[in-house]
Amino acid sequence: MLEVLAGIGRNRRTGGYRRDAWSPAELELREWFRQEADARGLDRHEDRNGNLWAWWGDPDRKPGVVTGSHLDSVREGGAFDGPLGVVSAFHAVDVLRARGFTPSRPLGIVSFSDEEGARFGMPCVGSRLLTGILPPERARGLTGDDGVTLAEVMRAQGRDPAALGRDRETLARVGVFVELHIEQGRALTAPVGVAAAIWPHGRWRFDFHGTADHAGTTALADRDDPTLKYAQAVLAARGVAEKLGVLATFGKVMIQPNNANAIPSLVSAWLDARGADEDAVRRLVAELSEGQEVVCESWTPEVTFPAALRDRVAAIAGHPAPILPTGAGHDAGILASAGIPAAMVFVRNPTGVSHSPAEFAEPGDCAAGVTALAAVLADLCGEAP
Ligand SMILES: [Zn+2]
Repeated sequence: MLEVLAGIGRNRRTGGYRRDAWSPAELELREWFRQEADARGLDRHEDRNGNLWAWWGDPDRKPGVVTGSHLDSVREGGAFDGPLGVVSAFHAVDVLRARGFTPSRPLGIVSFSDEEGARFGMPCVGSRLLTGILPPERARGLTGDDGVTLAEVMRAQGRDPAALGRDRETLARVGVFVELHIEQGRALTAPVGVAAAIWPHGRWRFDFHGTADHAGTTALADRDDPTLKYAQAVLAARGVAEKLGVLATFGKVMIQPNNANAIPSLVSAWLDARGADEDAVRRLVAELSEGQEVVCESWTPEVTFPAALRDRVAAIAGHPAPILPTGAGHDAGILASAGIPAAMVFVRNPTGVSHSPAEFAEPGDCAAGVTALAAVLADLCGEAP
């Protein structure tokens, strides 16, 4: 299945993926999800926040066991972040069926919409809307680099942005959620691991203003160049992050007007900050924000996955599977913070590289992930694996 998806949204020159939410590539992936659901006779449904669901059994009779992940990517991302979880979910259903397994609770597969926030700047838009963590009016106004809003994009795709928002009916169908995901660091040395917690993390937009002028006729002393303020902020972020033991990254920057021969008028730069200690992350942002024009675009407090479910999943997924914290945000974290029992299964990443075309998992480890996921689902569905 990963091979089927391999060409969708792939930059042939770099090998990186661009699967922005609601882009042609991502719409193709949605169509693939529908086909895979239909091929298995699952009841499929797109909720009003754009998340895709496929059900084995009727979740309105009894809340179900749900697994899945997301199909969108960061820009120039890898093949595994997201799709591995959705592909493994379909495979796990196949494994259970081949074994003659009949779930005593409904079993659902989900692909959450716009997990990475590559287009509109806000991660986990689909799960945040579903749970009500993201107010619909804020979601509708999210704007991409092209100036187009999420509401306009959804309307163009025949969806109703007025219907966005907390969806009690869909949430009530989710009894427990297990997300399988490629590990995004080098912390995992066994084929399969289980998440303990997701670090607190957030995104902040810094606007550094200056005065546009000619690069050849403006003396250095007369310049008001915002790139210098930006450069100082990048260096400061590194220093403060080292001092406080957290992570800080200016990974996205937009320069206006972006002419090689002009002093820019504006530099907008996005700070991503995370760490095990929430106070330290907040201190970092406060220090860097002093005297700057800063907007917080998203903030997710620490999420600790419920210990009993985590330990149960770890016992079944491995011998037992190692338990590790993660610095990466996930839909499972959003659901857990909204009070839905959630757990995560990680598949080993030999180099630890992620959000890059070099992201990789060995086929044997992916298969171990499917085996573990199938066993976990069988257990959660109330029967011995
Ligand atoms: Zn992901």
